[in-house]
Amino acid sequence: MDEKRVYLFGNGKAEGKADMKNLLGGKGANLAEMNLIGVPVPPGFTITTDVCNEYFVKGKTAVVSLLKADVEKAVEHVENLMASKFGDPSNPLLMSVRSGARASMPGMMDTILNLGLNDVVVEGLAKKTGNERFAFDSYRRFVQMYGDVVLGMKPVNKEDIDPFEAIIQQVKAERGIKLDNDMTVEELKKLVKLFKEAIKAQTGCDFPDDPMEQLWGAICAVFDSWMNERAILYRKMEGIPAEWGTAVNVMAMVFGNMGEISATGVCFSRDAATGENVFNGEYLVNAQGEDVVAGIRTPQQITKRGSVAWAENQGISEDIRKAEYPSMEEAMPEIFAQLDELQNKLEKHYRDMQDMEFTVQEGKLWFLQTRSGKRTGTAMVKIAMDLLAEGEIDEQTALMRCEPGKLDELLHPVFDKIALSQAKVLTRGLPASPGAASGQIVFFADDAERWHEDGKQVIMVRIETSPEDLAGMSAAEGILTARGGMTSHAAVVARGMGKCCVSGAGAINVDYKARTVEIEGTLFREGDYLSLNGSTGEVYQGEVQTRPAEIGGDLANLMSLCEKYTRLEVRTNADTPHDAEIARHFGAKGIGLCRTEHMFFESDKILAMREMILADDVAGREKALSKLLPYQKADFEGILKAMDGYPVNIRLLDPPLHEFVPHDLKGQEIVAKEMGVTVSYIQKRVESLSEHNPMLGHRGCRLGNTFPEITAMQTRAIMSAACELKKQGLNPKPEIMVPLIGILYEFEAQEKVIRAEAEKVFEEEGVRVDFKVGTMIEVPRAALTADRIATRAEYFSFGTNDLTQMTFGYSRDDIASFLPIYLEKKILKVDPFQALDQHGVGQLIEMGVNKGRSVRPDLTCGICGEHGGEPSSVKFCHKVGLNYVSCSPFRVPIARLAAAQAVVEG
Ligand code: PEP
Ligand code: MG
Repeated sequence: MDEKRVYLFGNGKAEGKADMKNLLGGKGANLAEMNLIGVPVPPGFTITTDVCNEYFVKGKTAVVSLLKADVEKAVEHVENLMASKFGDPSNPLLMSVRSGARASMPGMMDTILNLGLNDVVVEGLAKKTGNERFAFDSYRRFVQMYGDVVLGMKPVNKEDIDPFEAIIQQVKAERGIKLDNDMTVEELKKLVKLFKEAIKAQTGCDFPDDPMEQLWGAICAVFDSWMNERAILYRKMEGIPAEWGTAVNVMAMVFGNMGEISATGVCFSRDAATGENVFNGEYLVNAQGEDVVAGIRTPQQITKRGSVAWAENQGISEDIRKAEYPSMEEAMPEIFAQLDELQNKLEKHYRDMQDMEFTVQEGKLWFLQTRSGKRTGTAMVKIAMDLLAEGEIDEQTALMRCEPGKLDELLHPVFDKIALSQAKVLTRGLPASPGAASGQIVFFADDAERWHEDGKQVIMVRIETSPEDLAGMSAAEGILTARGGMTSHAAVVARGMGKCCVSGAGAINVDYKARTVEIEGTLFREGDYLSLNGSTGEVYQGEVQTRPAEIGGDLANLMSLCEKYTRLEVRTNADTPHDAEIARHFGAKGIGLCRTEHMFFESDKILAMREMILADDVAGREKALSKLLPYQKADFEGILKAMDGYPVNIRLLDPPLHEFVPHDLKGQEIVAKEMGVTVSYIQKRVESLSEHNPMLGHRGCRLGNTFPEITAMQTRAIMSAACELKKQGLNPKPEIMVPLIGILYEFEAQEKVIRAEAEKVFEEEGVRVDFKVGTMIEVPRAALTADRIATRAEYFSFGTNDLTQMTFGYSRDDIASFLPIYLEKKILKVDPFQALDQHGVGQLIEMGVNKGRSVRPDLTCGICGEHGGEPSSVKFCHKVGLNYVSCSPFRVPIARLAAAQAVVEG
């Protein structure tokens, strides 16, 4: 640990600098840096993030005594630079105390302003400034903030309004005034008195009069706020470790509430929503920072351009705008010019979009903060590409400036921001498939289809989904399930479709009979509205407005940049020509996994498929297979055509059989009729097919090896489709993949069937098509014996969904009951079905690749589990030398960016 606990800054000097974010937090490091580059910043000091950790280990008393001498010296430093004294009524200095972690966590932690006031000092401040109103306005703000943050004066019931706000409203109501600024000095004095009485009554605390005592209270409160609920939640969402801690920044106060040539505001060097290179922001005259954020007064725009646009949006006439809401550019042109120059300077210095806070005290401009601004995915791409074009950053930096996961936002419809901020969050599930969806609740797939046909938007709510639900899923705007993880059927399929899905929302109780879903105490019926945010897993009450995503040229530019750097290819997991086309549009270089069982979800096909599964002899199966063959051939033709010239890796049938058989009487009757058998026969077969552990049961190549006629039919369908296309002058590149092998012979037996059937087709068709036969490595034994398997298999594709399942011993279908608790308790840091477990599962992959290539040096290796689209997993795949990753179409751009970043990170 660094022995130095307190870092000073002020007057163009600083002990810290920009690259000391880990120690000083983002705010502290940038306050130091701004001093060094000549941006006016009030003097102050930063207590390091290490002290925060010390605070939680050693406790308050110990840390205060460790800091005492340093903080007292630092206060003196500020006093000297400000030529005033903390707590001295004849010449008072006031302070602000603010948090500041390594990564910005806007609004998550606490701030205290105007510290150092008491009944005596406030009089001194009034005298010194000749502005009694300002002095008492600052005092009531201080008591309010300190009372809330340090003394814990919060609403008693969650339905109550803020207790201080209640008092303000009461005082204003007595004289029938609306605005805070209309309160008289006497009223402000009255507020201070009432605030203190209320604090005493509710918390039992006397308000501290001693400024040093106030300062220690504030410093400790900021450290404490590192562990408040919202900060913890935010860290969880953003993956910020608790060990980072927050720094505490103590600065001399500058005042935006000293009158009409004082102001405070927040500004951005570019547009954080669109990325457009326009300076923008908001300010308030005669106010302090929290007024801008709190939304009590309407902030005005900084630029004239912004102001005009804002007024237009609000339906405010130009005359009223100019008179009542002028921009800073119009109202304070000189200050605006300085602000504009400095924001430019800061952006140039940091070479990134800056989010800045400033205060104007009686005509003098001060900066209180600068940081790289949070931005939307669209803005992220545009800003990176623009800065590159402007020559501010190089290509590698531009690539690294884009967060792969955020590209999602560019590809799916998004919620309207304002609508979202007003929406009520009901519960949260897993963010299974990104996007925004609003619609009426339906519980059954056929209803979803029907309502959709009637022009309604629907959200399909299910306990879990099965293949029968696919059509409904496709018709729905979004899918909400009570069970299932990120690799659950619903999630995999929804991602493939680019459909919004929230899965595993444990707090929802679905009652199919009553057609109701109960969510945290509220009952919703069929037809009621719900909204889903597939990117956060949030479920909202009612309809939240969405707007379509815009895909601009910047994304294309970013993708070409990725192409230039990347070594790893990106393919897609696709089961339909439509998905293949989308993925190709996003730059996929082939199909890494075509799950053939997904091709049977449509109604006619599923009947033949069921017949095939339920048949109890070869003849019965072959009869059903002959019905499936033309469907399969047409499917393969479509998909090979859509990916013409690129490899298409088609996996032989791998269904958990129970998912495909009818469990309801109606469905059983239909198959019985089709097969010419009794319903009770069907029921017995369904029962006999039921397994205790279907995910580890009769699936994968176990199916093809017990019923080779299925493999033969699929091979025939693939090869005849390929021959057909070849005759049309196209260039089909089929690959046939055997799933779930654990021993070499499982592969060899299947390979034999495949090659024999392919030969037959070539002879019949009179053309030949080059093809490969490879295997999935998804059973640990296959990875361990990869050198034997590669003697026959021409390529490997790591099925990391099953490999994770079998390496951890966690059933993919049953994780919802314990995985969330494991994550909560930090037994697991991340869901291994989402981000590849590099130490365990990763070791099997690396071993598989190395062993495989030891006998077949040119062995192509890819990954097709869900991890293929997850950035950290993609980077791992690059590192261990895979040739490609394969992911759902909407993740292709994400994987491409992660793959390029892997090269830059080297
Ligand atoms: C896998 O197991 O990783 C895989 C891609 O196959 P599936 O998810 O279909 O089992
Ligand atoms: Mg698998």
